[in-house]
Amino acid sequence: MTKTKDLPTLGNQKSITWRILLPLLLLIVASNALIVTVIMRQLDTQLIDATEQTLANKSELQAVQFRANILELIRDLQFLAGTPPIQGLARAEHNDGVDPLDGSTEQEWVTRLGVIFTEILKVKPSIQIRFIRSNGMEFIRVDRSGLDGSIRLVPPAELQDKSQSQYFTETIALAEGRVYVSEIELNREFGKIVEPWQPVIRAATPIYSTAGQLFGIVIINHNLQATFDQLKSLAGLEQQFQIANSHGEYLVHPDESRRFAFEYQRSSNIIEDFPQAQRMLSEPQLDVVNGVNRSAEQSSVYSMRSVSYNPDNPRDRLILATSHDLQDTLLVKDRLLNKVYMILALVLLLSTGLAIYVSQRIATPIINMRNTLKRDGMATKSKDLPITDSGELGELARVFDNLLQELSHRERLLTAENGERKVAENELRRNNQKLAALNKELSQFTYIASHDLQEPLRTVQSFVELFEQNYAEQLDGEAKIFLGFINESTERMSALIKGLLDYGRLGSESELSVIDGKALVADVCADLALRIADVGGEVVIGELPLIKGRKTDLRLLFQNLISNGLKFTQQGVSPVISIAAELSGDEWLFSVRDNGIGIDEDNFQRIFLIFQRLHARDQYEGSGIGLAHCKKIVELHGGKIWLESEVNKGTVFYFTLRNEQDEQA
Ligand code: ADP
Repeated sequence: MTKTKDLPTLGNQKSITWRILLPLLLLIVASNALIVTVIMRQLDTQLIDATEQTLANKSELQAVQFRANILELIRDLQFLAGTPPIQGLARAEHNDGVDPLDGSTEQEWVTRLGVIFTEILKVKPSIQIRFIRSNGMEFIRVDRSGLDGSIRLVPPAELQDKSQSQYFTETIALAEGRVYVSEIELNREFGKIVEPWQPVIRAATPIYSTAGQLFGIVIINHNLQATFDQLKSLAGLEQQFQIANSHGEYLVHPDESRRFAFEYQRSSNIIEDFPQAQRMLSEPQLDVVNGVNRSAEQSSVYSMRSVSYNPDNPRDRLILATSHDLQDTLLVKDRLLNKVYMILALVLLLSTGLAIYVSQRIATPIINMRNTLKRDGMATKSKDLPITDSGELGELARVFDNLLQELSHRERLLTAENGERKVAENELRRNNQKLAALNKELSQFTYIASHDLQEPLRTVQSFVELFEQNYAEQLDGEAKIFLGFINESTERMSALIKGLLDYGRLGSESELSVIDGKALVADVCADLALRIADVGGEVVIGELPLIKGRKTDLRLLFQNLISNGLKFTQQGVSPVISIAAELSGDEWLFSVRDNGIGIDEDNFQRIFLIFQRLHARDQYEGSGIGLAHCKKIVELHGGKIWLESEVNKGTVFYFTLRNEQDEQA
């Protein structure tokens, strides 16, 4: 039984599984990669946004805190300005040191004021309070210059002249009830910066007497160190926190050398670290600026907030800058990503398993079917294929099954046909052999018969001759005529027998040779030259090819056809015979055309039979064997002969001979 050869080899067994598995795996990996990329991209921006937001929230809290502190300072100041001792002192000033209202002396008011100042300092640890007279001399001062920083009413000998200080000159220029708020500076005593540093802010307000004359100023110095520490702790330990004043100069900075540099005639400005602060300094309405500062050493997320704290002068501002190391932020991301990776790895593992399972499920039945087909080929049975399976696989199996059945059916038919053909071929071969034997027998018979017939004929001819010679005188005229008939008949019979002999001999020249057609016909014409001249005819020889055959036979073929053309001519018409050849398929088609009497179509077959003639002997002489010769010669050469003719117009004899070139090939 035939086996199918073109089925895929074992090496390809994986192919279908892989063809399903590979795209699935690629899809899974690609989708996971996409998820990771999206997460990575979004995570960065989201984390930065969230950090910025947290920082902004914290700085808002810091701003509220700072403003509240300053507001409290201003309120304290306003409260002090309105206390009875201050008012009493102002009244006593214009009444020779005695308050006209209740008779209290100036000294009594000073003592009372000292008590009030001291009490206030007790509850407010970061302030000192002074009353400065209109000439700039400190009048009452309560600070923490006592032992171990205790509260002390400074004795008159230690009181200083503050008429030159900026806060004094600025405050005395203000109207009643207005408040001066200073810049934040380091505290100085007698012009020298106090160590350790005390960042101070001063709030002062002028005091006018009832007559509207300037009496002095009340001033509170507020040490901001505690406030700054508070703001710093609000920012959080892990954050870097800086404070700059309204000029951008640092007041608070992790690097000590950069704090209050302006107090030492240097500059350390926030713009150096945060170029965006430039905008904030020049645009007072700009509240918050968030962003990311990237540098070679460190990148950080920051939030800057502008805090204006003086209700009377919105230009008095602090810039709070809180920044968070981006690395810390991204650590969170790394932790998160690690989790994502773990989940993705799990998903990848599960989906790969699933993909393998799915591809196996699809591929296995197909591979099984392929193996069965490969193993059994056309002998595959329907029951071995999954033809009952629903879906495409079943459909495929059914198509295969049908194909196999169809193929088996055809194979059976072919085998049967082959058998029949072989029987027929054998039959044909046997018949051919029989036919060849019969032909041979016939040829021998014809030859022997005609040869043997010659003998009695020659005897008759000899005796007729003897009669004529020996009994010439005894024979009368009638007897001589009879003898003439006998002679004529024996000659004709001799010619007929010769014709038969020739017919029998045709094909006996067994050797085939390559013959130049044109030369052969020219030869024949040379032999017939006298006849041609006699009838005033013409033979036109076209281009003729090389042919392979028996020369004597082919010569006879052309000779018979040309002779007939010269013989069967119309009265008064000179015969013209043209001989041509053309290639038709794989053989040469020869034509011998004449302009003779033509042949009626009814006789087209008959004329090729032996001794068949269409005319009486006295009309056209001949034995009727010429065309029989021609037919046998052409057929012995494997060709065919036929004719086309029109009565009184002419005849064309066609015959085919195999192409010499093909033979060689
Ligand atoms: P023969 O020529 O000896 O009679 P053929 O066998 O050659 O015998 O021809 C048989 C007959 O076919 C001729 O008697 C003749 O009637 C006819 N025939 C043959 N060739 C021609 C021809 N070229 N034109 C007309 N008739 C022909």
